[in-house]
Amino acid sequence: MVERLIRYRARIRRGLAQYRDDTHKESYMSRILIVTCILMITGCSSLSDQTACAAIGDVMLCKDEDGRFLDLQGHVPTVEALSQLVPGDRVIDREVGAVVPAAGYSVTIEAENDDGASMNLELSTADDGTINATSESETITARSILTADTNECSDGAYRLNGYKWNTPYIWYFNAATAPSELNIDATEARLQQAITNITHGRNTCNLPDIIDARQQYAGQTERRANVSVKNNRVTCNKIIDNFNTIDIGELPGRRLAVTCTWVKNNAKIAVAADVRIDRSQRWFTTDTVPTDCQNQFGIEPVATHEFGHVFGLGHVREDQHPELTMSPLIAPCSNSASTLGRGDWLGLSTLYGASPGPGPGPGPGPGPGPAPVATETFLTLDSYQNGAPGTVSVSGHVFVAGGTTPATGTVNVNFDKLEGGAWTYRNTAPRTLVNGYYEVLNWGVGVGQWRVRAVFPAQGNYASSASNYHEFSIQPVATNAFITINQVLPGQPGHVSVSGHVLRANGTPAMGTVNVNFDKLEGGAWTYKNTAPRTLVNGYYEVLNWGVGVGRWRVRAVFPAQGDYSGSESDYHEFVVNAR
Ligand SMILES: [Zn+2]
Repeated sequence: MVERLIRYRARIRRGLAQYRDDTHKESYMSRILIVTCILMITGCSSLSDQTACAAIGDVMLCKDEDGRFLDLQGHVPTVEALSQLVPGDRVIDREVGAVVPAAGYSVTIEAENDDGASMNLELSTADDGTINATSESETITARSILTADTNECSDGAYRLNGYKWNTPYIWYFNAATAPSELNIDATEARLQQAITNITHGRNTCNLPDIIDARQQYAGQTERRANVSVKNNRVTCNKIIDNFNTIDIGELPGRRLAVTCTWVKNNAKIAVAADVRIDRSQRWFTTDTVPTDCQNQFGIEPVATHEFGHVFGLGHVREDQHPELTMSPLIAPCSNSASTLGRGDWLGLSTLYGASPGPGPGPGPGPGPGPAPVATETFLTLDSYQNGAPGTVSVSGHVFVAGGTTPATGTVNVNFDKLEGGAWTYRNTAPRTLVNGYYEVLNWGVGVGQWRVRAVFPAQGNYASSASNYHEFSIQPVATNAFITINQVLPGQPGHVSVSGHVLRANGTPAMGTVNVNFDKLEGGAWTYKNTAPRTLVNGYYEVLNWGVGVGRWRVRAVFPAQGDYSGSESDYHEFVVNAR
């Protein structure tokens, strides 16, 4: 059996050489599928029946229904193994994984278990396409009596993951898959407190709040954290957009939470980060530990730790720094991770300190002449407002390379619409940068599938002069347009007053403009005469003493932002204005 296995492995190595010349990809993959059952002995046993693997040194190159992936199984991959990968493939190591990012980007996944075991994996793709992967794990270890610092106010250990935010971290919360016993409002409050613990360096050591990390909670969302859970593994997906989402969802095994952070390499700036908190754990959402607590974890301490990852902190060793928030073990029935230790605070101060000291400067500039200024263009799609159907708000930053100097000038925010399966340019919102910041508020787009990007035209055709595209979809809002005829004023012949509401299907007021259209019966047919446009105020509109004249009339309200959505207009209401 062993001899046969060796023979098969030799065949696989020959097959791999064939694979590398890139012309026999599929036939090679079908060949290794045949030997999958043999290879299961060597390490594919945890994978599904659909998975085919081939060994490259200590690691495996596999393929399943989601595509190709490199399975590290705790080993360091060789350059040869990594050279097989392209962006879009995955790298996995035991219980975590990530999709290889596009050239110029990195992704880091940080995960911890309820017993303190932790794993992280970082993938980066250089501008030239070279892919690097590093992973680490710490299993549950006894506290090291000799070296552990058990005083959170004296232990100055920290570890930086090599990225930071240069823009406010704008985040959303999805509780759709939270267990029913979890109080959603309380969870939301604990999450907001948790991120504040990081951005204001909350501590009980009298350390000052000099941390200038910024965040904004943008409300609840129906989007999920950008992770996949499959085969007892959680994987950070391909970066989609800057829609940072915290959700409470499925995680495999004993996972407590995971954080995925996507980073632009050249300035080490985080561009997106999502957190998933495990729905199958038992949680408490109070700001103090419940007196009857048993094996329950606090949303706030766990989220504080995860937001530490979001803002650039890595793990310190549990066996040496057990009292710090960024050590992987977060104890049940404890709130201690909700306050930072000295090391946590020092790490954040290093990244976001108001007086960072000398530090590395911006370096020599590009020199005299018309050379373009290296910029990083960040476009964040803050929200699209379903309360105002058909409008979207967009904001972002343009920074000079190095990440801290705001660019000056004008940024063009371009909107394309998907029409007949193709993106079609529609319009541009030009904005003057103010301290590097731009925003487009309530830009009228209408129902449909859209994409937006920011272009910094001063850069000419410099490569970083445009942000990535960000897609968004404006759904029609189900409205009920209620129009009521309050009164027809016989004392003022020829005038009518009309008022009503435009409400969303759930009863909340819509925003925008309503058109009140008047038709007159002339020669037995309704003839359009005029329109009173009105801006909705808390969903209410009124048209007072509108001049119509004697005759038989009808009126209805139309809510044009809805396009041709069926709920965009009221019924007709007829009325008669008599001559006196
Ligand atoms: Zn962690």
